[in-house]
Amino acid sequence: MKTNILNRLVEPETLQHSGDFLGLTLTYPEQLAPFSYRLSNGTVVEVWDTGVLCLTPANPAGIDIVLSSGVHGNETAPIELCAAICQDLLLEKIQSTHRLLFLFGNPPAMNSAKRELVDNLNRLFSGHHSKGDGEPIWERQRAAALEQYVLRFYQAGGEGRERLLYDLHTAIRGSQFEKFAVYPFLHGKPWSKSQLQFLHACGVETFLLMQTPASTFSYFGAQSCGAHAFTLELGKVRPFGENDMSRFAACDAMLRALIVDALPVLADFDESRFNFFVVSRAVNKHSEQFELCFARNIENFSQFPLGTVLARDGDIEYRVDEPGEAIIFPNADVALGQRAMLLVKPVSVAGQVSD
Ligand SMILES: [Zn+2]
Repeated sequence: MKTNILNRLVEPETLQHSGDFLGLTLTYPEQLAPFSYRLSNGTVVEVWDTGVLCLTPANPAGIDIVLSSGVHGNETAPIELCAAICQDLLLEKIQSTHRLLFLFGNPPAMNSAKRELVDNLNRLFSGHHSKGDGEPIWERQRAAALEQYVLRFYQAGGEGRERLLYDLHTAIRGSQFEKFAVYPFLHGKPWSKSQLQFLHACGVETFLLMQTPASTFSYFGAQSCGAHAFTLELGKVRPFGENDMSRFAACDAMLRALIVDALPVLADFDESRFNFFVVSRAVNKHSEQFELCFARNIENFSQFPLGTVLARDGDIEYRVDEPGEAIIFPNADVALGQRAMLLVKPVSVAGQVSD
């Protein structure tokens, strides 16, 4: 008998009545034959695959929006948030003004309540899915498929339209700043003031400004699709049903306002209301002796006094060597050669933002 983590089995023919696209996705976590239908408000509903839902209003306004969640299967709050928006759209409680693509990234991992089955899906984009030994690993196949769906979605919208891609996550550990965004490398282009204002209204005040290409979904969206794309870390990982959704209320309200074209007037951009960081160093694990020299439950963006030893790797010591340097994403359990921690430092964006 079929089972999924939600204990809600949804068949394609009942989606119209339930609007439960997440339930359908988790009932068929590996694949789902495409189908489509039309809502009475004229919106065309197209299921392209498991976890891939495209909504096209009868007369779409000018923004093409990709909302993704569950790229890491156990990051449930954004999955629940997106599933609820999907359901309200499918049941016509709200109506989208813009073209929308919802992606639930890793359904088999969601059913297993795991971050991933084999590979970290968010390290496999921009072609990295094809760099392995050709083994048929689910996450590699999924990354390649998701890239194609996103390209198809934006190409069908056409050139000259605004493109947005918000990839929603929660972090393994707590954070000194509960919500933060990773703003992918733009190859020298200015950071978008209007996006910073919008995300600030979502409750995201802290931005990590990347300065190198990456294998993340958001970098793929920015670099390969020309979208304003972000990895949004919205809080801490918890199991399905155990999230305090009030902590996501601002983000939920702003995404819904964006979708129905009812955004409030946003506060003027004021750098003093943000925290901007850049990566000062990436620490890779080189030996099995690698150890982190702080508590396991340390929060992201924790700072230490100058000279503090942060990690040891055989004979190598990593110390704080700039004021304000903070740690982010520490993980001593990565494979040899992989990134075990990033060190970041505060930075100003004066002169580097534009409309
Ligand atoms: Zn994640």
